[in-house]
Amino acid sequence: MKRRKFLKNSSTATAALVATPFLTSCKEEVNPSKAGVAANTKAIYPIVICTWDFLNASTKAWEVLSSGGNALDAIEQGVKVEEDDVTNQTVGTGGRPDRDGTVTLDACIMDKDGNCGAVLAMENIANPISVARKVMEDTPHVMLAGQGAEQFAYEKGFKKVNLLTEQSRLEWWEWKKTSEYKPIINIENHDTIGMLAIDKNGDIAGGCTTSGMGYKMAGRVGDSPIIGAGLFVDNEIGGATATGMGEEVVRTVGSFLIVELMRQGKSPQEACEEGVKRIMAKNEGRNDFQIGFIAINKKGEIGGYCIQPGFTYRTYSEEGHINNPSESYVS
Ligand code: ASP
Repeated sequence: MKRRKFLKNSSTATAALVATPFLTSCKEEVNPSKAGVAANTKAIYPIVICTWDFLNASTKAWEVLSSGGNALDAIEQGVKVEEDDVTNQTVGTGGRPDRDGTVTLDACIMDKDGNCGAVLAMENIANPISVARKVMEDTPHVMLAGQGAEQFAYEKGFKKVNLLTEQSRLEWWEWKKTSEYKPIINIENHDTIGMLAIDKNGDIAGGCTTSGMGYKMAGRVGDSPIIGAGLFVDNEIGGATATGMGEEVVRTVGSFLIVELMRQGKSPQEACEEGVKRIMAKNEGRNDFQIGFIAINKKGEIGGYCIQPGFTYRTYSEEGHINNPSESYVS
C-alpha cells in the first residue's frame, strides 16, 4: 500500500533533487506531461536508466558514472542498492518467497564485450548480481543454478544470510490461507530492477536482479537471469531489459528482440513498443499481466513501454533525474 502511494506520487516526476556533492549542478526535469516524450528523444551519456522508480539505485549508478567509473561497475553498484533494500519485496533480501516459503534469487549481468554471467534460483546469498559478475569473470560458464550457484558464492567469499524477512514471512503465511497464485499487475509484485548504463567512453552494460514472482513454484525461474530475455546488451547497438511476467518475456526473447529491432533502425521507443506488441499478439484478449521494457541505444537515446498503465522508469544523467511515466498498450 505504501509503495503504491509512493508510485502514484512520484510518477508525475516530482522527486526531489538529490543533494550529493558530485551533483550540485543537476536539475530535476519536471514536466509530467512531456517527461516520457522528452526523455525519448534525448541523446546523452553517461546515463543510467532503470525499471521502476528506483531513485536510490540510479543515484548510486550515477555516482559511479559521474566520477568516471565504467558502466559495468555502475550497474553492479546500482542494482545492489535494491538487493539490500529489505522493503523491496521482489529483489534480494526481503524478497517474497516461493510457495514453500523459500526465497530464491535470479540475476544476470552483461558487459560491453558481450560477456555475461547469471545465477538462477540461488538461496541464502544477499547480492546475486555480484555472484553473477563473478560467474562472468571467474568461470568458463554463463549460468550457475541453485546449490551450485550458492556453493560458488561461498567459495568466492559471500556470506550465508537469511533472505526471508519477517514481513515477507507473515505475508506468505497469509497467502497460504488461499494459496491462490495470482500475480498482481503492478509494482507490488514487479519491483524487479533491470538497469542499463552508458559510461563516459560510450560503452554499455546492463544488469537485472529479482526474487521472481511471489509464491512461484519451487524451482521456477523467470526471464530476469536469462540473457536475451530479461536483459541483452550489444555495445554496437544498445541494450534492453524487462520487468513483469517473465514467462511471456521468455517466449519472445524480449530484450534480444528489442536490441535487434534497434539494429534494424528502430528507435529505443519504437523497439520497446514493438516488443510489447509481439507479446500481445500471442496473448489476444488477455489483460491480466504486466510487462515493462526499457531500452537505450548507442547514442544514449532511451525508450520504455509496457502493457498496463502504471509502469515507470527512471533515468539519471548530467541533466538530472526523471521518473518517466511509461506509455502503455492498454489505456
Ligand atoms: N520478471 C520477473 C520474473 O518473472 C518478475 C518481475 O519483474 O516482477 O521473475
